[in-house]
Amino acid sequence: MAPVNVTVTGAAGQIGYALLFRIASGALLGPDTKVNLRLLEIPAAVKAAEGTAMELDDCAFPLLAGIEVTDDAKKAFDGANVALLVGARPRTKGMERGDLLEANGGIFKPQGEAINAGAASDIKVLVVGNPANTNALIAQQHAPDVPAGRFTAMTRLDHNRALSQLATKLGVTVEDIKKLTIWGNHSATQYPDVFHAEVNGKNAAELVNDEAWLADSFIPTVAKRGAAIIEARGASSAASAANAAIDHVHDWVLGTPAGDWTSMAIPSDGSYGVPEGIISSFPVTCADGEYSIVQGLEVNEFSRARIDASVAELVEERDAVKGLGLI
Ligand code: NDP
Repeated sequence: MAPVNVTVTGAAGQIGYALLFRIASGALLGPDTKVNLRLLEIPAAVKAAEGTAMELDDCAFPLLAGIEVTDDAKKAFDGANVALLVGARPRTKGMERGDLLEANGGIFKPQGEAINAGAASDIKVLVVGNPANTNALIAQQHAPDVPAGRFTAMTRLDHNRALSQLATKLGVTVEDIKKLTIWGNHSATQYPDVFHAEVNGKNAAELVNDEAWLADSFIPTVAKRGAAIIEARGASSAASAANAAIDHVHDWVLGTPAGDWTSMAIPSDGSYGVPEGIISSFPVTCADGEYSIVQGLEVNEFSRARIDASVAELVEERDAVKGLGLI
């Protein structure tokens, strides 16, 4: 089988450094799939990315068929089967939201165009760089020949954080928990939902039996975990974000386990009252390289209000990038 072409943007960044070695070791696509890595960076960071490429060479990974480093998006995405869009413009002090969206439009528009022009027909895109959901929308809107559903954004880190918090609360392991969901935006408004989650077959919300804990402790802890890590570590989360990116693509390509689901931000088809087209997180199962939204879940009042708030934020972001002429 020909190697799979995996493009990583922002390859010289923190997350890139935690991500690339795991992709090359087989964690992304399994132990039988060779990969070609394409590392895209801005010109100023190409040298650092070349350094990382040297280290990748020095690992002598049997599954790593080749590495290319470039600052040319067209080259980076040519023939790409999987694209991990990690590089983004971080919010700096005093920056207005419009400036942030505009700066990211300048990154994700040309990347969408390059994906449209040259990526392989089975391209799967995961956006990690923030604001991830809206950056994914911008790239998608500039890739009209690629099926819209191939553009996704990462809420898997939020999902994994929620699993870990719930496991600690109930004194179980993460493996005991199934069917947890992150809804909405990868932002402080995200909604981690335990009402359909099962812990060794029992309903998680019933086991918790404490709505105040959900509202005042669990949800804010998951949503603000990134800030807590910056506070403790003096740097933003990187290895856990890279791990979640691996989990997202791994499950999309290789499938979710039977009897469970995961969370992915994907273009809404209107399910659960989420306006069609916005890239919002849903409970999904994956099989044969395709995801599908888990249907028929009852959404109680507690959940409805929180899903609606996060979705409203996504609609606002979409309208803002529309207003700026970015989509
Ligand atoms: P990181 O590698 O730490 O982060 C990259 C992006 O991931 C940021 O937008 C960050 O958003 C986002 N992110 C999403 N989820 C998380 C999470 N849970 N925890 C932390 N970050 C998260 O940034 P660096 O500054 O170290 O590296 C960025 C690299 O991207 C640089 O090397 C830069 O040169 C490059 N770049 C490349 C571009 C390109 O290839 N065209 C374009 C722009 C930049 P946030 O910080 O808001 O949380």
